[in-house]
Parts: sequence; structure tokens; C-alpha cells
Amino acid sequence: MKITGLKCAVIAQTPVVRITTDEGIDGLGQIEASKNYLKPHVLFYERFILGEDPTNVQRITMKLRRFGGFKPWGSSVSAIEMALWDIAGKAAGLPVYKLLGGKVRDKVRVYNTATGPRLKGYSPEDYAENAREKLALPHGFKIFKFPLGFHGGMFASNPKFFYGEVETGYPHPNKGYVTELGLKHCVECVKALKEVLGEEYGLALDCGPGFPIPSAIKLAKALEPFNVMWLEDLITGDYYPYTEVEAFRIVKSSTTTPIHTGEQIYLREGFRDLIERNAVDIIGPDPCDAGGIAETKWIAELADLHGVLIAPHSGLNGPIELMAAVHMAATLPKNFIALEFPFAPQEWWEGNLVKGLEKPVVKDGFVEVPDKPGLGIELNEKAVRKVLREEDKDFFE
Ligand SMILES: [Mg+2]
Repeated sequence: MKITGLKCAVIAQTPVVRITTDEGIDGLGQIEASKNYLKPHVLFYERFILGEDPTNVQRITMKLRRFGGFKPWGSSVSAIEMALWDIAGKAAGLPVYKLLGGKVRDKVRVYNTATGPRLKGYSPEDYAENAREKLALPHGFKIFKFPLGFHGGMFASNPKFFYGEVETGYPHPNKGYVTELGLKHCVECVKALKEVLGEEYGLALDCGPGFPIPSAIKLAKALEPFNVMWLEDLITGDYYPYTEVEAFRIVKSSTTTPIHTGEQIYLREGFRDLIERNAVDIIGPDPCDAGGIAETKWIAELADLHGVLIAPHSGLNGPIELMAAVHMAATLPKNFIALEFPFAPQEWWEGNLVKGLEKPVVKDGFVEVPDKPGLGIELNEKAVRKVLREEDKDFFE
């Protein structure tokens, strides 16, 4: 089998990757919805894969990976890798998880972030109300993650939150020494969340990036009585093109509150120091950014050797990426906690753009691992053609 083409179309706000072959089998991959500017970057890789045998996934990704980088520049390589696995699975008549080594679990635990009502504000009452709304969601999530500190709008909603100037205009980074009032406000909000969630539900907090080391340590220590599952991206995180391994190591070794990072990191080499130096308790690679689903499995296996847990990140992607992540997560060792459930544009979940998606997708906080060949999900060509943008009309050719 030979690759004959690489296509990309922005469907329901999300760049979808399609690889075609001379045997009529095609494969799908997906990029985060917020990165629809990446279509030209996806197409850049066509020159490297035309004529290759798509079932040699590792051989092709070894070739491409050198032309990728930390988020967002690893997204295209990752989506292509997913599409190659989809083809390899369909060619073999096997679900992708079988090609990755087989299942360790039949259903994959997912956790809630942005699905459901959004926070209306950043007061303790706002957090409590949002937690109550999320508990009422039909998905049955058992773990919830909320924004805190420099993640979301808390830092900007309170002029006394930190010693620094609020920079607006995404993706401007904010960072600074947090005031006593700011720290106390964080603690009050977590207290309000715990009062609603109790001991039945897990609570994680996405905090940055933006905390300097002393503020990160103070926050993590102040939150120790609340038994939160993790504090995410305190130091570096989303879109940082590097990893502050030593800073994370200092914070992690100063507290019993588990520390998490990694959603922007590319490849196992990008994670190596963080894992081997036990600089965090939990890593959060995103299979859509880390280099793909096999790469994320490699990262998880390395983490397991060092006693580091994994709770993979997922952004605004959608069902193709979710299925890729579910196949991957089904094969991870026992250091796996839960997969972030992607908040995709609603057309992906509610419309008829895809075939093969079990509904409801999430039951009792889990997603079933599909048994169909490949990723187990197909685009509904008729429905997708109706929404294709003019510049994407060659997508099904
Ligand atoms: Mg995050």
C-alpha cells in the first residue's frame, strides 16, 4: 500500500487530516479547534509521506518528528500519526489498540474540564454554583478540573491578585508574585468547590502558567488539607516552548499536593528530564501535540518506570481525536488516571458529521473502547460536504 495524498479541511471549526492510499483505504486525524490556522502546516508534510507504506507508522513518524516542535508545532505530526494508525488498523482489520499492544482496560475514564456550563465569575460562590451545575451533567463525570490563579480569568478579575500588570490579548503570558489576598482567594475558592464535591468526586485545578516558585509552593502547601488530585501547569504550560524542570522539581518536593504539567511538550525526549528527575507527580501529554498516540504511550511507559502518573490533556478537538486518545489510553500501564474529555464545538457531538460514535459518548464517566477496525469512526461524507469551506473542496478527492 502507498500513500497517495494528504488532505486537510477545517470542519466544524476543527482541522481534520485525511490521508489517502492507492488501495482506497483512508485514515483520519484531528487537530485542536483553536488551531485552524495550521492547515498549511499540515500540508507541508505531504512531500515527506507520498509513496510511503502507511502501515509503517513508526518509520514515517521517525522521519516527520524532526520537523515538529512544542505546541502548536507538534500538532500536524501528531494528527498525521493518528491517521496512519487509522489506516494500519483498517488494513489489518483490527482496532488501533490491538496494534499498540492490546487493551489493559475496556473503558477509559474521562474527566471534565470545559464541558457543561462555564464559570460565571471567580468568586467562591461562582465556583460552588459551577460545581453544582457540573454534578448535574448527564455524563456522570467523577473528576472535575477548574481554572484557578493564572488559568482562566481569576488573575484579571481581581486587581489585587498579583504584583504585576494584567496583559490582555491571547496568547499574552501573565506571570507574577501572588499577593496574600490572591493566595487566600484561591484557597477560599477551592474550599467552596470541596464543600460541593465532597469526598465522592476528584478535584483538579489548572493554575497557570504564571506562578513563580515561592507562590507555587505557598499555594500547594495551603491546599494540602483539601486533598486535590493535582495542580496543573503552575510554572510553565500551554504554549511554553520549554520545560522548567528544576522549578517543578523544587515545587514538587516542597508539598504533598500532587503537581502536574506537560500539555505543550513534544515527544518522549521533551518529557525525559521531567520524568527521570521526578520533577512532577503527574504528566499530561496531549496525543494531539506530543507526537501522536504511540508517542504518548511511550511517554506513559517511561513515566511508569519512574513512578510518575499520567492524566493526558485534551483540548477543543472532537470525536476523531477522542477515539485516537481512547485507543491509546486503553493500552496504558496502571499509572493512567483519566483522560481529559475534549470540549469540541457542539456540531461534532450533536450533528451527523461522524459515523460510528457511540451515543452517549460518556457513560458514568467512562468512554467505551471501540472494537471496529482502525479508530472506529468515519466521517459522514454527505453531511461533511455540506459544511466544507470553499478552500477545502478537494478534501474527499
Ligand atoms: Mg491545562
